[in-house]
Amino acid sequence: GSLNGNVNPGGNVKVVVRVRGFLPREVERGAQCLIEMNPQTQSTKLLPPPGTDPANARAQTRKVVEEKNFTFDNSFWSHDTEDEHYATQEDVYNCLGEEFLDHNFEGYHTCIFAYGQTGSGKSYTMMGTADQPGLIPRTCEDLFQRIESNESANISYSVRVSYFEVYNEHVRDLFQPRTDPPQYLKIRESPTEGPYVKDLTEIQVKNYTEILKYMRMGDSSRTTASTKMNDTSSRSHAVFTIMLKQIHHDYRTDETTERLARIRLVDLAGSERAKATEATGQRLREGGNINKSLTTLGRVIAALADPKNGRTHGSRRSTRDIVPYRDSILTWLLKDSLGGNSKTAMIACIAPADYDETLSTLRYADQAK
Ligand code: ADP
Repeated sequence: GSLNGNVNPGGNVKVVVRVRGFLPREVERGAQCLIEMNPQTQSTKLLPPPGTDPANARAQTRKVVEEKNFTFDNSFWSHDTEDEHYATQEDVYNCLGEEFLDHNFEGYHTCIFAYGQTGSGKSYTMMGTADQPGLIPRTCEDLFQRIESNESANISYSVRVSYFEVYNEHVRDLFQPRTDPPQYLKIRESPTEGPYVKDLTEIQVKNYTEILKYMRMGDSSRTTASTKMNDTSSRSHAVFTIMLKQIHHDYRTDETTERLARIRLVDLAGSERAKATEATGQRLREGGNINKSLTTLGRVIAALADPKNGRTHGSRRSTRDIVPYRDSILTWLLKDSLGGNSKTAMIACIAPADYDETLSTLRYADQAK
């Protein structure tokens, strides 16, 4: 977003891109990296695959295959570990996670999404591995460290977590055992709290070890289905929510005030188009619905980032009237964490050697700026 006098409506939306290294299958087929990043300007360049004759490609597919340039808030180069600009999991956390957690401790909501085709590094970025923990475990660790150092006679904290997935525009509790047929939860709207998932499990957690245990438990319950593209391609949007409540007690006045911040960490379903996986029937229908949530999310973030939609001083028109939250389950449920005083980040994850899918991801991210 751009600056607009002393209001900065787009200032609460960050869009970053991250490119991963080659997977063994890419090394095997001798894939070439089609991405260049400039750490000074945060620009990302997508190159046509080697040997592409633009005129010929255009004649055959009616598409223009050419060099494309984009600029984002950050361009994370996680391609070759040997490179001095390699962005580690820690770098990504320091650049994004920390700032967002600051905002939560000030009492505001935040939301971080990982977007991209299956296999582009979304889970790696959000969850990571045991050796290389991602944004979610790092946020949890930092959260409890801050709580331990802040806690005093007049400040105490309470942390609760929930974990649900949006699958085919239905909501499923990831803290409940899987059933066949699956049990979907209903969505309700409260006049004060806004949209919420009825009967969603919320668990109180006391420390990092506990939160990690529940996170892993929920993770293993996610809906995955095999497609030709990837064996464990994830077809659902997974929403991990941490509710941080700060309780301030003023001993002189004997008054207690509470502030609640929701931390939403979202691993989105693969953005690949249904045709690319040659999926049919049920799988294809899912594809349609997954894209519905993804396209709506793109429109919502674009609307939030657009300075024209910002709340100006003295105006009673709010972004709430313009932003199409209601058009998908995902955006409807995350309404409280998008817009207003909330901070939102979109991490566009890209594979290094897929021109078409990467272009579509970069375009999606670009419209969200
Ligand atoms: P997605 O969640 O988008 O389907 P994954 O996160 O599962 O993709 O990533 C696919 C593979 O690439 C995994 O084996 C993962 O460990 C690896 N990977 C992804 N991003 C990185 C990275 N930045 N550095 C190292 N390995 C990565």
